[in-house]
Amino acid sequence: MKIPFLNLKPMHTEIRNEILAAFEKIYDKNLFILGDSVAAFEREFAKYCNVAYCISCGNGLDALSIILRGYDIGEGDEVIVPSNTYIATALAVSYVGAKVVFVDPDIKTFNIDINKINKAITQKTKAIIAVHLYGRPADIDKIRVICNNNNLKLIEDAAQAHGAIYNGKRTGNLGDAAGFSFYPGKNLGALGDGGAILTNDITLAKKVEAIRNYGSKIKYHNEYKGVNSRLDEMQAEFLRIKLKYLDKWNADRQNTVKLYLEKINNTKIIIPYINSPQESIWHIFAIRTEFRDKLQNHLNANGISTLIHYPIPIHLQKAYIDLGYKPGDFKVAETLSNTELSLPLWYGMSKNEINYIINTLNKW
Ligand SMILES: *Cc1c(COP(=O)(O)O)cnc(C)c1O
Repeated sequence: MKIPFLNLKPMHTEIRNEILAAFEKIYDKNLFILGDSVAAFEREFAKYCNVAYCISCGNGLDALSIILRGYDIGEGDEVIVPSNTYIATALAVSYVGAKVVFVDPDIKTFNIDINKINKAITQKTKAIIAVHLYGRPADIDKIRVICNNNNLKLIEDAAQAHGAIYNGKRTGNLGDAAGFSFYPGKNLGALGDGGAILTNDITLAKKVEAIRNYGSKIKYHNEYKGVNSRLDEMQAEFLRIKLKYLDKWNADRQNTVKLYLEKINNTKIIIPYINSPQESIWHIFAIRTEFRDKLQNHLNANGISTLIHYPIPIHLQKAYIDLGYKPGDFKVAETLSNTELSLPLWYGMSKNEINYIINTLNKW
């Protein structure tokens, strides 16, 4: 049996007719940028997250960097980010000229370690970016206390957590502002690039709305040196369709994960720590083992594709050589990069495929 790491086919077969109709609708309308469809998607996604404002943009990286710009965070400022995340979280900080300050994650939850944040705060710290890594909400209540005590903005990187719920609230509604990505492989993905900023802060909302569109609220009147980072009408229509199915698709992933959690019983493998399987929307199902590379080869030899999230921690990437870090500086991120393995997980996996993966793992 061959099982890809990600397979969008079941999802895209289900909505094929709706998507093609949406394509025709926009194609015939001949209006492609910042029209009714973008406005409708922004309304619908804001409502879904129960947040006052949604401002769409070109991608998740831009969403984060535009939020930072909206808060006037830049040169001379510091922003705390977890050391184990996709590099975009750190790049957003670098893009605005601020300094990235890493904090190691908790090895159990993979999210930023609450107990290590205080040590990283200085006079220059302006914000914490809490990443809901692999779909599991970060421990926001505790991060909120730290932010309040130190007058910091709490920014969510929700690029892996569309629809995840923390204490009854959806991600996107847990901080001062949140950045989402609609990269096709995310739980809510466009058919190309896309992103969004969510916030209840009207001042920020107005400012980021201008920044994403050349810094202009009124055509040819430019208040800020903005950027061109817009969601287009096509992608907005595709996302409106997919948003209707998001809860169903997330529930299907949760059901697959329930089987993984119940049935993977190989003692060489550490399965994810959980309170309840419903707390995460499982963008990624991350197992750990000391013998990670051997396991990856074993699965590969049996037709099962896996990925590592992430093989090189950001502080050891060539792009961040200027920060002067060396191996050993963020031990948990390094341990994860050496032991983590992400199993196939996508909407529409069959019982057969799931059981084949479980059996292949248990026989190893
Ligand atoms: C995907 C991702 C991003 C960036 O999103 P893009 O749309 O690819 O720019 C940012 N942060 C995290 C945690 C991500 O997984």
